[in-house]
Amino acid sequence: MKAESHSSTIAAILRQKCPRCRSGAIFRSSIFRGIAKMNEHCPVCDLKFEREEGYFLGAMYISYGLALIFIIGLAGLLWDLLPWSIQKAVIWAVLLFLPAAPLIALFSRVLWIYWTRRLILHHTRDLQLTPRTMTKQENHVTKSVIRAGLVSAHDSVTD
Ligand SMILES: [Zn+2]
Repeated sequence: MKAESHSSTIAAILRQKCPRCRSGAIFRSSIFRGIAKMNEHCPVCDLKFEREEGYFLGAMYISYGLALIFIIGLAGLLWDLLPWSIQKAVIWAVLLFLPAAPLIALFSRVLWIYWTRRLILHHTRDLQLTPRTMTKQENHVTKSVIRAGLVSAHDSVTD
């Protein structure tokens, strides 16, 4: 059962679906077809995708990581297959990466939405399970997370 839910999460990420209802689209068109505009809210369950201003700055770190993996992997492949210097292989890997850069940036947003949501829901769920043992500090963290609009009461009840 666990493997099944993992594969459905991966499928939802690849299809860029809302992390809550898994049926509303995050983007107005598929990111695999070109640069796509993002929906502000899920068209099905109304989940707000950009939780707060600057929320997607975090997605940039994922984007850098993916870009690095892509470039290093491709440079290694070119260097191995062709009689090129490592410098030439890296330059070509960067040039070949450029057309894929917008796709990687948008896909990183999808990963960021899923990852932060999972993190926040786990955190609040853990705290809800043990309300009596909740420390003052944990209590403070939960309240500030809710205040910051990172999680709504609806989220923690339904998920
Ligand atoms: Zn939704």
